[in-house]
Amino acid sequence: MANHPQWLSPAISAELQQQVLESKTLDVANGCFVYDLEQLQAHLASLQQQDVIKLWFAVKANPLSRVIQTLDSAGFNFDVASSGELAQVLQQGIAPERILNTGPAKSKQQIHAFIKQGVRVFVAESLNQLQWLNEASQAENVTPQVLLRVQLQWPEGEKNPLGGNALTPFGLSVAEWQGIKVTDFPSVDICGLHIFQWGNMLSNQKMYQLWQQMVPPLCQLANDIGMTLKILDLGGGLGIDYLQQGVGLSWQQIITDLAKIKQQAGVDELWLELGRFAVAHCGYYLSPVVDKKMNYQQAQLVLAGGINHLLRPAITDQPFPVALLRTSQSESKQYDVHGPLCTSMDKLGQFSLPEDVSVDDVLVFGLCGAYGFTESMPFFLCHEIASEWVWHSGKLTEIRTAESANWYLR
Ligand SMILES: *Cc1c(COP(=O)(O)O)cnc(C)c1O
Repeated sequence: MANHPQWLSPAISAELQQQVLESKTLDVANGCFVYDLEQLQAHLASLQQQDVIKLWFAVKANPLSRVIQTLDSAGFNFDVASSGELAQVLQQGIAPERILNTGPAKSKQQIHAFIKQGVRVFVAESLNQLQWLNEASQAENVTPQVLLRVQLQWPEGEKNPLGGNALTPFGLSVAEWQGIKVTDFPSVDICGLHIFQWGNMLSNQKMYQLWQQMVPPLCQLANDIGMTLKILDLGGGLGIDYLQQGVGLSWQQIITDLAKIKQQAGVDELWLELGRFAVAHCGYYLSPVVDKKMNYQQAQLVLAGGINHLLRPAITDQPFPVALLRTSQSESKQYDVHGPLCTSMDKLGQFSLPEDVSVDDVLVFGLCGAYGFTESMPFFLCHEIASEWVWHSGKLTEIRTAESANWYLR
């Protein structure tokens, strides 16, 4: 590659070129993910250079075993939102006391099962969940920490930092929570509030403004229901510059801002559950070009893998950045890049790529460490399931082999 894109480290680029184009140890025919665990380790260590924020990993961003193990080694705790995620984290040898359970669909049975398995921190998203947590805790004779998830609305207009008040199933309004008294739930320790209703924030200033506006209503709520507010959990949503516009958050600034928020809210602990901000940069997705054509003056590429392996661009309009794996000196031009599914939705974006890109060339997409493999739609049209590899200590290791459709078809 003539110019190295900022999201592609020269080391991994050289390694992938070597493994794919020369020694052919990495077979990308069916599409594959590669996670650079050394990059991840270094990044996580930099996030931990502070004592303001307790960090959790939102497992939904990437539940691969080796990714979870790397976060574990870096001292992260784990936020799980399903029985499957809980099982996967426990399977990696992580103590259940380091696991937190969020999510709007916690059934009474699931809550009881999580408590039996040793989970001791819960985010309650409804009055039912709070009641069920109290009942299960009493039955098991334990006292888990419970944070109430709050969903705020802002006045319509310019002052609204989110630009709208779309109602979601995450948490409850202040008015609904105001109907409880913490003393009515003696078997749980209601000790904090959780709020998270923004996505992919890319401005420190906007983020801080939003956090600041939330402090007074949250402190008021805690006071109204008789809770000593010890923990404030601000979720995730720290942004990634998918569109490569040269914008992004400064972690140093976040720490400075959150130290102030911690003081304003008067809490002992401030928590974040990071998804993309923790793992997006470590991941790559590779797929070969299957066809190239001109169509109504538009150059089109069709890849072996598309939204069956990388759904996110189709549902967010944010493409993952891409480059041609081999070196090319030719001029760039705009290509529409499509996948193999027979639906117009299967488009990974429009990109500037070298003019001489051709059939059998391999494209590498970046920022795919979060919301890649498990957020996609691998079954549609019965293509192959992508493989997953990790790169560590100069070695590529296959964690999941590619599978053909007969693996799941019945
Ligand atoms: C998805 C999710 C996160 C992580 O979001 P990112 O934007 O990837 O950081 C954190 N907390 C909760 C409750 C979530 O559902």
